[in-house]
Amino acid sequence: MASTRFVYDFDEPSAGGRELLGGKGAGLAEMTQMGVPVPAGFTITTDACRAYMSNGKTLPDGLGEEIERHVSALQEKAGKRFGDANDPLLVSVRSGAAVSMPGMMDTILNLGLNDEAVQGLAGTTGNERFANDSYRRLIQMYGEVVDGIDGHGFEQELTDLKRARGVAQDVDLTADDLADLIETYKAIYNEETGRDFPQDAREQLTRAVRAVFDSWDSPRAQVYRRTYGIPDDLGTAVNVVQMVFGNKGDESGTGVAFTRDPSTGEQGLYGEFLPNAQGEDVVAGIRTPAPLAEMRGKLPHAFEQLLETMRRLEEHYRDMQDIEFTVEDQELYLLQTRSAKRTAAAAVKAAVDMVDEGLISREDAIARIDPAQLDQLLHPMLDPTAHWEVAAKGLNASPGAASGKIVLDADTAELRGKAGESVILVRWETTPDDIHGLIQAAGILTAHGGMTSHAAVVARGMGKPCVAGCDALSIDISARTITLGGQTLSEGDVLTIDGGTGAVIVGEVPLVAPQVNDDLETVLGWGDEHRRLRVRANADTPEDAAKAREFGAEGIGLCRTEHMFMAEERLPVVREMIMADGEEGRRKALDKLLPMQQGDFEAIFEAMAGLPVTIRLLDPPLHEFLPSLEQATDERMRRRIKQLQEANPMLGTRGCRLGLQWPEVYEMQVRAVIRAARAVEERTGEAPLVEIMHPLVAFEEELRRLRELTVHVAEQEAPEVEYLCGTMIELPRACVRADEIAAQADFFSFGTNDLTQTALGFSRDDAEGKFLTYYLEEGVLKKNPFETLDVSGVGDLMRIAVERGRATKPHLKLGICGEHGGEPKSVAFCHELGLDYVSCSPYRVPLARLAAAQAALAERGAAEYAASH
Ligand code: ADP
Ligand code: MG
Ligand code: MG
Repeated sequence: MASTRFVYDFDEPSAGGRELLGGKGAGLAEMTQMGVPVPAGFTITTDACRAYMSNGKTLPDGLGEEIERHVSALQEKAGKRFGDANDPLLVSVRSGAAVSMPGMMDTILNLGLNDEAVQGLAGTTGNERFANDSYRRLIQMYGEVVDGIDGHGFEQELTDLKRARGVAQDVDLTADDLADLIETYKAIYNEETGRDFPQDAREQLTRAVRAVFDSWDSPRAQVYRRTYGIPDDLGTAVNVVQMVFGNKGDESGTGVAFTRDPSTGEQGLYGEFLPNAQGEDVVAGIRTPAPLAEMRGKLPHAFEQLLETMRRLEEHYRDMQDIEFTVEDQELYLLQTRSAKRTAAAAVKAAVDMVDEGLISREDAIARIDPAQLDQLLHPMLDPTAHWEVAAKGLNASPGAASGKIVLDADTAELRGKAGESVILVRWETTPDDIHGLIQAAGILTAHGGMTSHAAVVARGMGKPCVAGCDALSIDISARTITLGGQTLSEGDVLTIDGGTGAVIVGEVPLVAPQVNDDLETVLGWGDEHRRLRVRANADTPEDAAKAREFGAEGIGLCRTEHMFMAEERLPVVREMIMADGEEGRRKALDKLLPMQQGDFEAIFEAMAGLPVTIRLLDPPLHEFLPSLEQATDERMRRRIKQLQEANPMLGTRGCRLGLQWPEVYEMQVRAVIRAARAVEERTGEAPLVEIMHPLVAFEEELRRLRELTVHVAEQEAPEVEYLCGTMIELPRACVRADEIAAQADFFSFGTNDLTQTALGFSRDDAEGKFLTYYLEEGVLKKNPFETLDVSGVGDLMRIAVERGRATKPHLKLGICGEHGGEPKSVAFCHELGLDYVSCSPYRVPLARLAAAQAALAERGAAEYAASH
């Protein structure tokens, strides 16, 4: 039987990388082997964890002996013995999975101390205070992690002791104070577990290893994995690391640092340092840490070592690192390194700089920027170096982050907003009557409603953050308070929301301003040389069209005409058309709309100057243009509303079904398009590339008739104007009958929002925030199919449509204009399908450009390419 090895020393090469050793273990081994100062230690592999889990939580055979051998080797290196009463070897036991799960699993420091050894440590170091400080930390951490004792009891005792001694900070406690604290802690331990604190170092070690394995299965770790789609069967590694002590006095300390600024990507000194402290003290906020630069004056030798080490780590990993270090008696030790989490701006800047510095290739730079993150570049985001706690989560309805005072109605929002205050409008849900408040709010938080709720749609349109459908939120409007996952807050209290993740945070979190920069253009420009997909934008107005071009859009893939119908001065005319008794009345109203639509199209064609523009004819059901029955006062209007009422409007009289029943509507629209095209060509000398698109086609016959209508009107108006006539593909039947439909179409554009709804039988508004949330939480589905294309289902329908459509017309133009057109994974899929273009909201154009370039590079085997450079 091949013997499985479960343990590797940091200085031993192993075949497995982070999958086997975990991220932390792999980093420690790699640093050790490149000669960076790291305390000695070893890693128990994720294989061991998996074996432990599948063995019904018993340690696999031989693991005990293997650990013992590595403890011996560690003793050799350290020149101290584990469990020794006089000069004990102390270790930390640290979890570390392949995928980083910050704060989810546990670490124990100072393991190996007991009542005797603490005396020994005091003796050999001549520092009783330090020895006691280390022991009290061990009892607390071990109690919490191994025995599940609630940490608050320990914290409370520490606070009480400081108060009794009249000191503000734990460093001001004396050795004797800490000796008292140890006794109290041991009493807590005994009370909570019914046992004395274990005095045997090896027992401590074994139980700690098991506790770390067990923490992989803790409820919070499970929830975390589900949230971030991390598989449950990876397991965690355990790192046993010789302790180095930052709590020995003022020539010692602990800190964290980034090799570049994680907010901006600039080179320079970024990090924090806390003298005379251990482990998590820096992030725990026990004392205020000093900026890293202050370390230079206090510990010049260690500081120089740190700078040199940071440089070497970047050169080695060819990426920005986030490190943890400790200084013991002026000597530097690295305890962790990993790729730094960073803002999109920092990622872009660092990537461009690293190409300049010769650290990475252009292709590396393109590959390593996360397109999903680019969204942030255009919106403020939470400062990644700040610490915060998420109080509740809702739907990430509109990206960006905002902090502000809670206001509970639109009037207050308007008042305070206009007075220059930053406010977050908090409502059960919003209605069009809230619009004045929405305009003034920095962000919007609602308890009800999904991704297509009023608040969500309006917020996205305005480009401001929105978290919608936050279940944990309730509002007491008479008391002017809200409760958020158990906490009660009053109007005027400060709240922070992150519409990119759906997080709601109590209090203020520092924000990083959006930074559109030349560096992004540089990387996107490199990417443009590789991508095959064109990128267009969905834009309904000349302003959106202009913005889209600024971001590099190569045309408009979806111009919705209904928004033009909704405009304030036009709605009465549209209603007149809907209310008309017959065709003649409708035509009269449509004649008034014709010049308005023509004007809209002219402005958009001009903004796009010769680039393709796809215009979709009227799509929504007519009731959307009428008031609700409750609001309508006019009796004739009420009757009409009732006539138009449908049980399921999404599947009702809309799209081409409407266009076929009331052909005069589409005739007017086609006329407006053709006239606008001719006018713009005459004016500018440049002919727009017009594409007329018919929505919701399921049958060839529908499109055949509509094409006839289109051709007829165009001939009448201006036979010289060139245009294409095509269709949305957004119904399953259209996909499977694409060969027939293609006979009538010059192009297809996949409407994946409706296609997802109809293929899955999910109505989006009834799914998101409701059963779909349950599905995602319970892992029935891994991803929201409205955000990331359901490649195996909806994607297969698309594949069929592409194959059959092109079988009829090999050069059929193919695109996508659903929201998926701006989602990186879906863009990659569109690349693979061989579509000609993707179309997405203007703000997502940069992201789609990058995703398309990455897909092209991945296809070309960018990995080998980069490796050979
Ligand atoms: P996390 O994954 O939560 O960061 P770590 O295992 O990295 O947990 O450890 C928690 C803290 O303890 C970190 O600040 C780390 O640097 C410190 N630490 C861990 N092991 C040692 C050690 N052997 N000596 C000194 N400090 C340590
Ligand atoms: Mg750490
Ligand atoms: Mg549609």
